[in-house]
Amino acid sequence: MAYKYIDNYREQGARKKLVEELRKKGIEDEDVLKAIGKVPRHFFFDETFWNQAYKDIAFPIGEGQTISQPYTVAYQTQLLHIRKGDKVLEIGTGSGYQACILVELGANVYTIERQEKLYERTKQILPHMGYKPKFFLGDGSRGIAKHAPYNKIIVTAGAPTVPEELLKQLNVGGILVIPVGDQEMQKMITVLKTGENDYERITLDTFRFVPLVGDKAW
Ligand code: SAM
Repeated sequence: MAYKYIDNYREQGARKKLVEELRKKGIEDEDVLKAIGKVPRHFFFDETFWNQAYKDIAFPIGEGQTISQPYTVAYQTQLLHIRKGDKVLEIGTGSGYQACILVELGANVYTIERQEKLYERTKQILPHMGYKPKFFLGDGSRGIAKHAPYNKIIVTAGAPTVPEELLKQLNVGGILVIPVGDQEMQKMITVLKTGENDYERITLDTFRFVPLVGDKAW
């Protein structure tokens, strides 16, 4: 389906406008805005819906799941303070859009998805676009111990609590960003690991994510 990978002036222009919209909504990290300006979000949509790709909205991607709203992606990414070479675990690959943003920022990305169809589709599409994170299929609520520790962990589904396993898999100095609450609404939480058993936790704004489903989740 070669048509999918055409990035023409109309889409590039729409992407620039999206970046300006996110700036107005409070996203300040220029590297994050630059990454949003680079990743062709319409590649994740069927051509019929390209006119929706640069609106600041979440959109269905099949299997009852969504590609996150660009503002949410930018908000979570900004909180991670990505440095080039950071080893980052993303839980909830979904469409793969968030993973592409992390790769654009120079991260070494490990991404896990529990739904096989989404995992297969994303694993096929992203390398065609030039993005090559490491893909895993399974329950990410327990992290991926085999590849730990990580500098940063991002959870892109709503959890009932902060899973202990994820904290264990962070480096000292590492950051976890995770939405925590009930299945309707969650608060964005950041946890900074300040020592082997010491953490600083900050509670931020309210969001609405699909649930994190798994052993250490719903
Ligand atoms: N990051 C995605 C993107 O950029 O499109 C959006 C993710 S979507 C809001 C949440 C994803 O988390 C869904 O694809 C869902 O199947 C996945 N998910 C839910 N629970 C999970 C778990 N325990 N392990 C891995 N993935 C999970």
